[in-house]
Formats: sequence, structure tokens, C-alpha cells
Amino acid sequence: MRDTWPLLDKIPFPAIRRGPLQTLQVNVGYRCNQSCVHCHVNAGPNRREEMDAATADLVIEFLEKRRLATLDITGGAPELNANFRHLVRSARSLGVNVIDRCNLTVLFEPGQEDLARFLADHEVAIVASLPCYTEELVDRQRGKGVYDKSLDALRKLNSLGYGREGANLTIDLVYNPQGPSLPPPQAKLEADYKRVLGERGIVFNRLLTIANMPIQRFGSTLVSKGTFNAYMNLLRSSHRDENLDSVMCRTLVSVDWQGYLYDCDFNQMLGLPLRVAGRPRLHLKDAMTRDLAGNAIVARDHCFGCTAGQGSSCTGALA
Ligand code: SF4
Ligand code: SF4
Repeated sequence: MRDTWPLLDKIPFPAIRRGPLQTLQVNVGYRCNQSCVHCHVNAGPNRREEMDAATADLVIEFLEKRRLATLDITGGAPELNANFRHLVRSARSLGVNVIDRCNLTVLFEPGQEDLARFLADHEVAIVASLPCYTEELVDRQRGKGVYDKSLDALRKLNSLGYGREGANLTIDLVYNPQGPSLPPPQAKLEADYKRVLGERGIVFNRLLTIANMPIQRFGSTLVSKGTFNAYMNLLRSSHRDENLDSVMCRTLVSVDWQGYLYDCDFNQMLGLPLRVAGRPRLHLKDAMTRDLAGNAIVARDHCFGCTAGQGSSCTGALA
């Protein structure tokens, strides 16, 4: 894979600082049942990095001590981690909202037959990737047969109440562009998704549009195709200062499978740890009572991916 890191430190990104912490985003490992072309985690079936039980317990301790509102669990396919259900149960018993970043097809993996029921029983909010509403584009980006399996998974979740009015079970879908372009306006695309998927008997709550980051597998593809610089120029020239106030790193901290802290998942993938008081990196066990508000965020060129156009974050467009 081509390394994009040397290409990401050319034009300074505006200095930004942390606000009050609301969300702990935990990457429990890079193992995934898929190997998507755009994956910024470079996840796949052969990755062996997994959060262990002791680190999962530190996550729970951190949630409790800091009284955080939300635990956002990601991966890989986070549900494949042996400690996933323990994390969910413990966080919910503390009254913490839990988000599962689910690739949908994992519902049909061996041993996951009861996963949908488990998520519904614990009122876990699902954020699920579906990068298009057409079979051709989904299968091109995520692998043959993924579209049909994803729709079957959505129907299964709908049958349990996900996306249904009155049920306290939300499912948001995630769109990201196929190539080196910015996502289209979120509201219009959401209406298109709702119409097309509705014709197939599927309902969901919101569509979140997310820009592709010029790192890992997607960044490497850009370098191979000779489009890396053009994409970076697009991100920089589309930068909007007003998006700086709501980039997700203001209120979220990202934890890796070993328990180290980062300003966001993208920085985690680039090996850019959160910096506090000159320390090279900070572990959860040393951060239990440390107030991170006001701390400088480690920003580089890839950050323009969050501030370009309508803006982009784990919760979709910023504008
Ligand atoms: S994009 Fe998601 S589903 Fe695809 S390989 Fe990466 S973690 Fe897995
Ligand atoms: S890439 Fe991460 S650090 Fe940079 S602006 Fe986006 S969320 Fe913040």
C-alpha cells in the first residue's frame, strides 16, 4: 500500500482546540469480515489487532468517571470482538448511549445469528455503511453480494423496530463518495435513499454523508491513480472556516485497541496520538481524571477532509 503520510504535511491547517468531552469513540480492533476499497482503517479478515478485556474495562471505568453521554464503538467490524457485548451491556447499565458502527453483513457471520436481537434489546443506535442505493456501486466498493446482504440485514433490523416510528431504535445509513469528489448535499441524497430503499420495503432514520479521507486504503488508491494531489487541492480549496467550530474532535476522543488516545479515528490511523503537556501519547488509565478541554488538537492536511464543503464527521455533514 502507498504511504500518504509524507504528502499530508504541506499546508498548515488552522489551529483548533478541544471543547468539553461528550463522546468516547472506541476502535476495538481492525478485524472485519469485509475489505472495502475506501476503508480508512485498512481493516480486513486477516487483521489480528483486538482490544482485550482489561482495556475494555478501562473504557467502562472512563465512561463512569467522566460521566460521558455516548460510547461510539467502531472497528473493523466491532461486533466480532469478544468484548463487544460486555462493553455494550456495561455502558447501557450506566445509562450511556451506545452507537454501533455496523457494516450490516456482519449480522450473517457465523455466531452472530442473535446479534440484531442483542442490539435491539439494549437499544443500541446503529450507524451502518451503505455507500449507495444501487447494487452496482455498493458491490464495486464493498465486494460482490454485499448490497443484497446489506438490504437483508436492514429488513431484519426493521422487523425488530429499527427505523420505525415510535420505536426507540435508530438506524442511520452512511454514504461516502466512490471516488475523489465531495459528498453531494446530505438532505437531497437522504430523500433519494428514502425513496429508493422505501420501494424495497426498507426504512431508516437519517443519511449521514461522509467525505473520504486521503489516508490508508483510499489514499493509497489515489496515489496509485495519480489523483492524490488533485483530491487534496479539492479539499483545501473547499475549506470553510465556519466548519471549524463543529469538527468532531472538539467533543470526541478516540481510543485505539490498546487503550491509547487520539483526537479522532483518522489521527489514530495515521499514528498521530493526542498530545498533552508534551507527553508523546496518553493511555486511558492515565486520563481518568484529566480534563482535556482547551487542549490543542493535532491537526494536519487530512483535516481539510472534515472542513471541505458542507463539512464531514462521524455524524455526517456539519453545515
Ligand atoms: S469500511 Fe468498514 S466494513 Fe469495510 S473493511 Fe473497513 S471496517 Fe470493514
Ligand atoms: S481529521 Fe480529526 S483532527 Fe482533523 S479536523 Fe477531522 S476530526 Fe479533527
